[in-house]
Amino acid sequence: MKIKSLVLSLFALLSISNVSAQRSIPTDDQQLLYEIYKELIEYKTTTSEQNNTLAVEGMAAWLQAAGFAEEDIFIGGALPHKGNLVARYRGTGSREPIILMAHIDVVEAEREDWNLDPFVLNEDADFYYGRGTIDDKAMAAIFTANLVRYKRDSYVPDRDIIVALTSDEETGGSNGINWLLENHPGLIRGALAINEGGYGLLQDGKPLANTIQIAEKIFATFQLTARNPGGHSSLPRDDNAIYDLAEAMLKIRDFDFPVQLNDVMRLSFQRQAEINTGQRADDFRALLQEPIPQDSLARLSAEAAINAQLRTTAVATLLDGGHASNALPQSAVATVNVRMLPGSDPQDVLRTLTRVVDNPALEVAYRGGGRVSQPSPLTEEIMSAVETVTQSMWPGVTVMPTMSTGATDGAKMRIEGIPTYGVSGLFVDRNDMRIHGQDERLLKKSLYEGYDFLYRLAVELTR
Ligand SMILES: [Zn+2]
Repeated sequence: MKIKSLVLSLFALLSISNVSAQRSIPTDDQQLLYEIYKELIEYKTTTSEQNNTLAVEGMAAWLQAAGFAEEDIFIGGALPHKGNLVARYRGTGSREPIILMAHIDVVEAEREDWNLDPFVLNEDADFYYGRGTIDDKAMAAIFTANLVRYKRDSYVPDRDIIVALTSDEETGGSNGINWLLENHPGLIRGALAINEGGYGLLQDGKPLANTIQIAEKIFATFQLTARNPGGHSSLPRDDNAIYDLAEAMLKIRDFDFPVQLNDVMRLSFQRQAEINTGQRADDFRALLQEPIPQDSLARLSAEAAINAQLRTTAVATLLDGGHASNALPQSAVATVNVRMLPGSDPQDVLRTLTRVVDNPALEVAYRGGGRVSQPSPLTEEIMSAVETVTQSMWPGVTVMPTMSTGATDGAKMRIEGIPTYGVSGLFVDRNDMRIHGQDERLLKKSLYEGYDFLYRLAVELTR
C-alpha cells in the first residue's frame, strides 16, 4: 500500500520537463492539425499497449513549442502509463473558465481485423483512417491545435480555456477524468465543459443537423436468480429453475418502461420533426402531445435507436444455469442490463422488474451501475453559441439536443456540477458510423470543418 501511494505521488509530480522532442509549428493551419492528428493516432493508446502517457507528453510538446509556460501544463495520473494532460490558456479571468475535454485512449484494434494498419494514419481521397480518427482523437488533436492557434493569434479570452486530455474513458474513467476530479479538482474547475458525444449528421453527403449531447443514460446491472431443489433428470417436473427463469426473461422482453420525456428530449423531437418529412415528421410531432397517440408511439418505438431515447430499457445479456447435463437445475441466473433515463433511481427499477417478473420464488437484485447524473441545462449561453457558429458555417442546419444511450466522461463532470455539452461539429454519415469498429474513419472535410467549428465555438464562449 505504501509503495503504491509513493508511486502515485511521484507520478503526479512528474514534471513535463522530460518531454523530449521539440515540435516545429507549421504556419499552415491544416498542416498543423494534420501533424498533431497523425502523431496522436499513431500512439497505441489501447489497454494492451498503453502508450497513453507518451501521447499526452507528445501533445504537451506541441504546447511547449507554441510557448505555453510549464506552470500551465500539467501531466499526471494514477498509473505511470495513464497520464492525463491539463493545459490552461489564460484569459482575463473576468468569468469562470471553460473546459474543452477529450479522451486519448482508444478501444483495441487488431491489424488482422482491419484492411489497413489501425495505428497508422492512412488516407484516401476523402477519408482519414485509423483507430481513434473519430473516437476521440479528432477532438483531442483539434483542441491541442486550437490552443496553438489561439496562442499564435494572440487571442485574449475573457476567461481561461482549459484543455483536458484524459486517458481512461473507454475502460471506465477511474484513472482519467475521475482521478483528475478527485485529486486535482482545481485544475478542471469551470463554468461549463465541451466534450465528445455530439456529431453533425450527414444524409446523402449533406449536413442535416448538428447534435449537442446534453444528457446520458445511466447503465445499471440487475441479476435474476431462480432456485430449485433439483433432482435426477430422468424424473422431470414442471418446476424447474431454467423454465422459471426463461418465463421471467420473456416477461421482461415484453415489458416497456413508460415513456418519459425531459425538456432536452422534447426539444430534440421537435427538431427531429423539422428535419424529417411526411408520416415520420408527424410521428415526432405526436410525441409532444399529451397523451401521445399510440400509433405514432408504436411506429417510433419499433426503431431501437429512437425507443432508447423514449424510455428506460432493460435487456437480457448473460445467462448461466444448471450444473450437469443429467441433473435438474438447482439454479439459473440471468443478467439484465438496464439503461436508465437520467435522474432515475435504480431502486425504482428494481421494484419495477420485481413486479414485472411477478414470481416470489425468483430473486431480483441490483448489482450496481453508474452514478445518477442529471441533464445539463439548455442555457441561452451554450445554445446561442452553438447556433451562431453552426448557422455561419452550415446555414439552415438544425441544432439538435440529444441524450446518449451510452456513457462518456461527461456524466462524471455533470455529477460534479459542471454542465457538460457534447458537441464537435464533426459531420459523419449516420448510416456509416464506425466508432469502435473496423476501419474507423473520418471525412477529411469534416475534420477540418470541425477544427474551425470548435475554434469559433470556444471564441464565442469566451468573449
Ligand atoms: Zn469516446
